[in-house]
Amino acid sequence: MTMKVNLMHGAGGEVMGELLQTLTKFSHNNAGGIGLESLDDGAVIPIGDTNLVFTTDSHVVQPIFFPGGDIGRLAVCGTINDLSVMGGRPIALSCGMILEEGFEISALERIVRSMDEALGECGASLVTGDTKVLERGALDQIAINTAGIGIAERPVRDNGLQVGDAIIVSGTIGDHGMAIMCYREGFDLGEQISSDVAPLWPMIERALGSGEIHAMKDPTRGGFANAINEMAHKSRVGVRISEEDFPIRRSVKSASEMLGIDPLEVANEGKVIIGVAAEDAESVLNALRSHPYGRDAVIVGTVTDDGQVIMETEIGGERFIEAPMGDPVPRVC
Ligand code: MG
Repeated sequence: MTMKVNLMHGAGGEVMGELLQTLTKFSHNNAGGIGLESLDDGAVIPIGDTNLVFTTDSHVVQPIFFPGGDIGRLAVCGTINDLSVMGGRPIALSCGMILEEGFEISALERIVRSMDEALGECGASLVTGDTKVLERGALDQIAINTAGIGIAERPVRDNGLQVGDAIIVSGTIGDHGMAIMCYREGFDLGEQISSDVAPLWPMIERALGSGEIHAMKDPTRGGFANAINEMAHKSRVGVRISEEDFPIRRSVKSASEMLGIDPLEVANEGKVIIGVAAEDAESVLNALRSHPYGRDAVIVGTVTDDGQVIMETEIGGERFIEAPMGDPVPRVC
């Protein structure tokens, strides 16, 4: 039987992992630092006495304008945040745009304005780009790829969790995925759920300056559940999460119950998971909270030595948090 790509292959979970086995079969995969094989948020290339961080991200979100953001803000933030969680100060981005014939120039202008605004929030620049146009029907409106470089004195990995570390999340979980889903479904929850899409470097820079951060990752596709499992697995540790302290908006909770979607498994585009030495947890937490994008930051758990990711429920039980097969919301970023 001929194997073909399906939508789950792009959903950022276990199924996508299978496709990555094919897509990462490069023997030339490392430029002297951290390369493709580590499947981290970006690559690290040592240059002189510092490090270049390099990453890329493509965006095909549907709809392209959604509550809280648009495909342009998402395309800049996706790359900025992957650089940031590697400890890299974002410097310069590229932008490859693929457009469908008939796409409105006014929409393109809005997208570019919104990209520029996100760049401005963290002092990065868009310095090079490319544009292609496909015939009507060959593409759904627009696809944007961005690549970015940053500079990291001390790169941070996603595999550095240590037993005893505190796990911090920088704010409410599930907002982006549920905002996209509710908007598509036309849900009226009284309060509109907004995407959290945001460029996190200024907030992360404050956190890096206030404690010994051992590991970071942005919980994008596959959500918190996927990211925390990846961090624990790569670090060869376990994690215990307390449901009581876990930040999820009430509206996100109700929507996820209605849709039968676990908010822990959907994408966030303006959040970071941080593993930090226990004695530094409070100061890192305060640093995050001092920035508007981190005002809801909380310590949600601790790193253990048992290799399992477990949530202690509010009623005193325990459940495993498993990596999802894929993000339950398609075309989320
Ligand atoms: Mg990432």
